[in-house]
Amino acid sequence: MKEQIHYVTDAHGNIVAVQIPFALWERLKGALPAEAPAARATEAAVPEPMEGFADFLRYWDFRYPYDPAVSCPHCGAHVADWRTAPGHPFQLANANLGGLLVFHCKSCGATIRQKHFRDHVALESTPRS
Ligand SMILES: [Zn+2]
Repeated sequence: MKEQIHYVTDAHGNIVAVQIPFALWERLKGALPAEAPAARATEAAVPEPMEGFADFLRYWDFRYPYDPAVSCPHCGAHVADWRTAPGHPFQLANANLGGLLVFHCKSCGATIRQKHFRDHVALESTPRS
């Protein structure tokens, strides 16, 4: 097997790449992590229930337009549109057809619930437990 491995070197003789037979690669790639650890460490890797949010909007039949603004009464964070705000300060945690949206405030950890009723929105929140 060793003679089938080719080292690619730069002008100074430093190895910059390794070329291996495809059969060996097939065996090795199964042992590699599925994704880079750096990608797993970011908060954005936690999936938001965007399908639930799409359903929430699809079945919207209330008397007022949907307002994407989110405010945190615990730390004062506020965005005009949680979907496009820089740094994504509010993470969508739950969304359903019944009009409930749940957000997590990234700066203080509070949970914010927006309950959409036919003619008004009720806000509830709980600080980080
Ligand atoms: Zn907050």
